[in-house]
Amino acid sequence: MSEVIIVGAGPAGLAAALALRAHGLRPRILESRARASDITGSRALFVHHDSLALLETISPGLGQAIAATGIRWARRETRYAGRVVYSRAENHTPLGDGLPSYTSLGQSGTGELLVDACTRNGMDVEWSTTVHKVASSDDRVTLTTDSWTAHADFVIGADGARSRVRESLGIELQGPRISCYHIVADVLGGKRDCRTLHYSCPEVNGRTAMYVPFAGGYQIDIQCHDQADAARLADTRSWVPPDDVTRLAWVSNYRFIRAVASSFIDAHRRVLLVGEAAHLFPPFGARGMNSAFADAVAAATAIALASSVKSTAAITRYENERRTAALINADTAYHAYRHLHPSRSMRATQWGAAQASLLAPGAGRWLEHSAYGPRVRTGGRY
Ligand SMILES: Cc1cc2nc3c(=O)[nH]c(=O)nc-3n(C[C@H](O)[C@H](O)[C@H](O)COP(=O)(O)OP(=O)(O)OC[C@H]3O[C@@H](n4cnc5c(N)ncnc54)[C@H](O)[C@@H]3O)c2cc1C
Repeated sequence: MSEVIIVGAGPAGLAAALALRAHGLRPRILESRARASDITGSRALFVHHDSLALLETISPGLGQAIAATGIRWARRETRYAGRVVYSRAENHTPLGDGLPSYTSLGQSGTGELLVDACTRNGMDVEWSTTVHKVASSDDRVTLTTDSWTAHADFVIGADGARSRVRESLGIELQGPRISCYHIVADVLGGKRDCRTLHYSCPEVNGRTAMYVPFAGGYQIDIQCHDQADAARLADTRSWVPPDDVTRLAWVSNYRFIRAVASSFIDAHRRVLLVGEAAHLFPPFGARGMNSAFADAVAAATAIALASSVKSTAAITRYENERRTAALINADTAYHAYRHLHPSRSMRATQWGAAQASLLAPGAGRWLEHSAYGPRVRTGGRY
């Protein structure tokens, strides 16, 4: 049986572990954090139906558990300068497979359910274990941690945006790059159950703002003009609804980047990059964590196939399929970015759409949907 080591116990690494287990392999999972709960803030909230269904296939009951722990919003509305231009009550009827169309849950909640599923499947995360170096050859991969060296047939690099695995292999992140600065914050408790997207929001001096309910609270996401603007806002609480200031639990001054690794595999086809180790997108359209799940399951399938038929063709296919998907995801997130950080001409178009929505509901719908980017599919949804 092939030995596989996963570096990183974020959503991508844990999903990869479960997918490998479903193929009869039992990987080691190395994680630099001391415990699962060492993650702050809600971060990726939106788990799409396709991800719930995918997780259900690799660990029966997991998709259902994540769906049941998260919430569905009561409504979604889009506002322009205070006025509602689009509003829709959410349909909570499960889809044909019994899973909802999405669930909204803090990333730590999703992470804990993934860790529990790994434990139930006989895989304990090795916490407080930082991988410093990875070197591959034709027949194996060598990993170096703080205190020991290990060998594996295959390694999955799921170690996030500042991936040591990617860096060790000399794989670069490529642009075209954009950076966008946000204030992301959590308000815990309360009764907000409407997801609001607000263009030219008066409460934040005309910036775009999102208010996204999740199990236990809601997330505020303010799109800032630049780094200095984000730093200035982070020092005030002017952007928090006054009644909620005392329930503010987490504030992050965050820079989102668009970049895709030049390769998702090493030259010897023994190391596969997944999730943010392989690509960084602005979060619009919820493509970060959802595409990390798709990468993870595809990487595990490729390793299972490569181990059983002793050929690296499946690894090459992984690189082709998931890198192409990442490029599409990056483009889609970029379209959404152009709406949420509007140029002067985009601002004029949005103003026009907001006026038109008084007579033509399609214009309001356009303002709602543009924030998620075009509906493209990458083989699957992400
Ligand atoms: C503020 C914020 C808001 C976000 N909002 C959204 C959203 O709304 N929707 C969405 O889809 N995505 C969102 N994202 C992105 C989402 O969090 C990521 O896409 C997701 O976490 C990627 O998962 P991952 O497993 O690839 O990486 P990570 O979650 O970063 O996991 C990597 C893991 O590897 C570990 N690690 C790192 N280096 C090493 C090492 N050398 N050795 C061992 N372990 C290591 C880390 O400790 C970490 O646990 C958001 C992110 C942030 C920060």
